[in-house]
Amino acid sequence: MDKNTLLQVWPIPAFDDNYIWCIHDGKSALLVDPGDAVPALAYLKQQNLTLTGILITHHHADHTGGIAQISKTLGGSIPVYGPANSGIEGLTTIVMQDDKVEISTPRISLKVFEVPGHTLTHIAYFANMQANVVEPMLFCGDTLFASGCGRLFEGTPTQMTESLAKFAALPKNTLVYCTHEYTLSNIRFALAVEPNNLNLIDWAEKAKALRSQNLPTLPTTIGQELQVNPFMRCDQPELIAAAKEVSGVQDLPTPAHVLAVIRAWKDRF
Ligand SMILES: [Zn+2]
Repeated sequence: MDKNTLLQVWPIPAFDDNYIWCIHDGKSALLVDPGDAVPALAYLKQQNLTLTGILITHHHADHTGGIAQISKTLGGSIPVYGPANSGIEGLTTIVMQDDKVEISTPRISLKVFEVPGHTLTHIAYFANMQANVVEPMLFCGDTLFASGCGRLFEGTPTQMTESLAKFAALPKNTLVYCTHEYTLSNIRFALAVEPNNLNLIDWAEKAKALRSQNLPTLPTTIGQELQVNPFMRCDQPELIAAAKEVSGVQDLPTPAHVLAVIRAWKDRF
């Protein structure tokens, strides 16, 4: 296999609305957050791919539940990368902020971001452009969704704001591989927050068309999310105004204050 063969990223549907992302070069493959071993193993077999590693973003069972069965089925020597202090069973390599994950087959170099908020030990993996990656790629777990963000089960609005700011600083053309197909319901909420956002209105039509054909709305891009995602726009006047109106609080001095209001609104939407 030519080392410059472009990497492919394929969504393996799992449960009701999860995607297990498979990064491969046609021969060897990585899985991101295999919550269910059955569809993941079936895909690898069907495509004749050899699994060489598993990347885990956070401890929730729908992201980790397949690790043991996959490792057992494939021989038990698959490296499993994941966050420290997360209680995840089966990790072989703990990774932290700014660590580089260097995989030889498929050849890819990924940088680790610590992104607390959804959980306290949540991490994300970023692949910048390289020989076989023409657009940067982000595997963000449940931190960022198309037009939404993860619930704050463990972290604070300030932590989530800082985590999303790390993503906002990535190249605008970064492809974002979120782990749930929540896009249409996220868009419904985003439109309640910003009914006059023309980019969002346009995106709503495109996303509906994709889902009506049962196609994924992912990956999204950082540039797109900065235009349509309320949780990535907490520094924008429209968002600040909407947060003040819905909360009745006029003093929202930072994006984290705005995100706290918007996230609480979404939780009861
Ligand atoms: Zn989760």
